[in-house]
Amino acid sequence: MSEAIMPFGRPVYVMLKPVGARCNLRCDYCYYLGRGLHEGAVMNEALLEEFIRQYLEAQTVPQVLFTWHGGEPLLRGIDFYRKALELQRKYGKGRQIDNCLQTNGTLLNDEWCRFFHDNHFLIGISIDGTQAMHDGHRGDSSRNGEGTGFRGRSWHEVMRGIGLLKRYGVEWNAMATVNAANVGSPVEFYRFFRQIGCEFLQFTPVVEVSRRCDVSWRNEDSPRCEMSDESITAEEWGRFLCAVYDEWVREDVGRVFVQLFDATLANWCGVAPGVCSMAPTCGQAAVMEADGSVYSCDHFVSPAYRLGNIRQQEAGGRQSTLVSGQQPTLSSLLYSERQQQFGQSKFTSLPQQCRECRWLFACNGECPKNRIAVDCYGNPGLNWLCGGYRQFFSHVAADMDFMKSEIDAGRAPANIMRANLKK
Ligand code: SF4
Ligand code: SF4
Repeated sequence: MSEAIMPFGRPVYVMLKPVGARCNLRCDYCYYLGRGLHEGAVMNEALLEEFIRQYLEAQTVPQVLFTWHGGEPLLRGIDFYRKALELQRKYGKGRQIDNCLQTNGTLLNDEWCRFFHDNHFLIGISIDGTQAMHDGHRGDSSRNGEGTGFRGRSWHEVMRGIGLLKRYGVEWNAMATVNAANVGSPVEFYRFFRQIGCEFLQFTPVVEVSRRCDVSWRNEDSPRCEMSDESITAEEWGRFLCAVYDEWVREDVGRVFVQLFDATLANWCGVAPGVCSMAPTCGQAAVMEADGSVYSCDHFVSPAYRLGNIRQQEAGGRQSTLVSGQQPTLSSLLYSERQQQFGQSKFTSLPQQCRECRWLFACNGECPKNRIAVDCYGNPGLNWLCGGYRQFFSHVAADMDFMKSEIDAGRAPANIMRANLKK
């Protein structure tokens, strides 16, 4: 690999989709379904080996992270992952290799949990909160008339899966969507996760243009589209974040890790936030689909963001090339001009309102997929959730200043809990 295409020494990261968009739940708000892309493909072992070889070769640091994602990655079967571990050992050359897998949890059983425990997987569980918060949207989407039989009962299956993970001592965390069903109950939402023993919580807001709208919402020339029923507003997001934060900061700092709060403190301290949505640039979250196609980001799996395919031949016999005549490798795709531009455009496409915003250092305009609103100057590209973020950052600013000063002085940011008690 030439220096020209590998300009920095940091981990290369690509999320893998062993069964593409295929899933046994098919939730209402899934951003991956209904695009007509990668819903039938399954990754074969030859491609798996090619990916693992190239992925490990591309790394410039001794620690390597594999992330298995979906769709529902457990649908690929346990032998596929046994093979993956064998190949990681074959090509790893002594590197420390970690695996994490994001699952809806409904297919977990003793065999899976034993396997994850014995091989030190970190398991991310998708769950939206209490049964009432979860079962309304998760499972059995009526989209395209497809039914999975899970409507109204997937929560019990997920909770059974979490129980198994705990019983086998598997490290796990929770990933929740914040949608119309739970955004109005932030305290109940947070307490639920605390009560089930979740120590690391991520939540992501649902912002989707209605499927009734037939134009691409990523096209800035598109007419304004109505939002999906599951989407939340900026005001709801702001209220939700403030209320969850108030609950967390009372007694859980340093005990429960809430990704967004950690990322906010990191940005306050001027260090990398650890989550791409709050970082100044993108480009470090590529995805490889089950057929070997590599895309700029999990949220931009569409033809316009397809970087190429690492297999020798594209389907239909067409050669996949980055530059005419050259077979693309994972490295050449990840360090390609297009991917660099994709990463930089998160910053270069910020609208004027963001550039002038006092919270830009903490927000960075959040994820470009959510930039579907118009700023106060009439420019497109403002984040749909902007008002919510402004409310949140104003709400936590004094606490963040305090926690930063504690860190600067070599003390624990958790001292904020005592400081707030004295007020
Ligand atoms: S587009 Fe969004 S999800 Fe993708 S890398 Fe950028 S911030 Fe992350
Ligand atoms: S808070 Fe709003 S204006 Fe400020 S950076 Fe974030 S999206 Fe832009």
